[in-house]
Order: sequence, then C-alpha cells, then structure tokens
Amino acid sequence: MTTCTSRITLPPSRRLLWQILRSAAYLCLTVACVAQTPKTRLEDLHDKTILVFTPHPDDDVFGAGGTIALLNRHHNKVVIAIYTNDDKGSSDPEMSSQRLAAIRKQEEEASEGLLGTAKENLIWMGYDDGMLEYAAQPKLVEETVAIIRQIRPDVLLSVDPGEWYERWHKTDHRMAAFNTIDAVRAAQFRLYFPNLLLERGLAPYTVPELYFFYPSPQEANYWVNIEPVFDLKADSLLKQVSQFEPAEAKYRPDWDPDTWQKTKKGLQALQETKDGHPVESFRYATSFNDR
Ligand SMILES: [Zn+2]
Repeated sequence: MTTCTSRITLPPSRRLLWQILRSAAYLCLTVACVAQTPKTRLEDLHDKTILVFTPHPDDDVFGAGGTIALLNRHHNKVVIAIYTNDDKGSSDPEMSSQRLAAIRKQEEEASEGLLGTAKENLIWMGYDDGMLEYAAQPKLVEETVAIIRQIRPDVLLSVDPGEWYERWHKTDHRMAAFNTIDAVRAAQFRLYFPNLLLERGLAPYTVPELYFFYPSPQEANYWVNIEPVFDLKADSLLKQVSQFEPAEAKYRPDWDPDTWQKTKKGLQALQETKDGHPVESFRYATSFNDR
C-alpha cells in the first residue's frame, strides 16, 4: 500500500467509531493472513522459480535445506541470495577474515550443490559478517529490490525475524529479515528506485507467496516433510566443515570419519519433527496485495 497523503477530519463521535472499525478491519486482515494456505504445497511445486534470501551461507541449509532439495528435485529453478560472506565466525587464532570468506564460499557452493542448486544460481551480495545492520540502508534495500525484480520468483523464502534468538541475538538475521520484507514491498511499486527500470529494465514485480524459515514455534503455520531428503540435508550441512568442531576452533578442510558420523547423528537428532516425520517449519504469507 502506498502512503496515504489525504487527511479527513471527523467529528469526535465519528472518530471513535472510525477507530473501532479500523481496529476490526486490521484484526480481520490479520486473521485472514494467518489462515491462508497455499494453493499448491511448496514441496509439490514444479518448474517454478524460487528465490531464497539467507543472512549467512549456511542458514539456507539449516533452515530450509530439505525443502530446497525437494524443490530442486522437482525441476524448480532455485536461486539463493546470500547477504554476507560469513567472515567472522571462527575461533581459530590463525584464521583471517579474507581466508574465512573464501572457505565459506566454497563450503556453501558444495553444500547447495549437494541439494541440487547450481553454483551459478548463488548470488553473493558481499556484505561483511555482522555488519549488515550498519550497511547503508537505501543501498541495501535497492540491491535487494533489484534481485527480486530480476529473478521474479513465484515463491520467496527468507529468514523470519519472529524467533526469539534471531530477533535478539543475531544482528544479520534481524536485518536480513526486515530488509527482505521491505524490499518485497518496494519491488511492487514503480516509484521505488525508478532507476532500476530506466537503467536496467527491471520492472516492478509482486512476489505472490512467501515462506519464512526459522519462525517462532508459536507463529509457524506450515511444515514440509523432509523425510525423502533427511539424509541428504545432513550430508549437505556437513559440507560446511568450518561451521562445526573441530574445524571451527582449528581449521581443517575435512572430517575424520568418526567425528563426521557423530556430528551427523547429532544434527539429525536436532531436526524438528511433526507427526513422527522430520520437518522444516515456516511461517507462510501471501503478497501484501492479497491481504
Ligand atoms: Zn546465520
């Protein structure tokens, strides 16, 4: 919705009535949004374009790796936009940010590759780890709008700011969540970033459906059964060697077999389950135009 610039002055008696009606309308819209369900289930989509925004080059796999694998199996085009280079998260005293960024890029390519996402479908936005919140916001949202208008996804996946840990303790997660949804809105309207149309031919675009991974358990309203790719998801995560011990503390590019097996079991034990099946949970929403 564009900003309303008109002002209507109501008498005090009408103002209260107007406020009550407006509150009721908001409540109805909210309920309608929560109650919405997709026409086609996410995991049943074929030959569509899916755009995933992830704060770091591993959250896409932790939060939605099984779903991404299923989408790739069904011949959808999956594109992953990665906000940051993840160049800070190592305790190895001999690690440098530059080297870590290169390692994390290779690991993400291997990890997503196992899920079926081509290396060419990874978009590296290039922000430094932990610094997304301090990036120039008009530039950040414009870049994100450009990606949305260029890829023109049928479905967009992004991190959810709703979960307690994401909201309070993960700066890049917070920023990626809010920035992505701001960009989804801006991508719809021609008057946001008109240069994108004039200079790059990127016309406005409305994202029809949105799924947010890492939702708060209270707000999750959609679950994908990832049983067919449960093993593959763990193998994909284990490609991100430097995210786990022992390589996090003292980098090595490989695993010893025992640690690999133990870590895989640990990861699989942590996977959320529903009705006896391993699942990935999401908060589903449709485009703002549908509300
Ligand atoms: Zn992260």
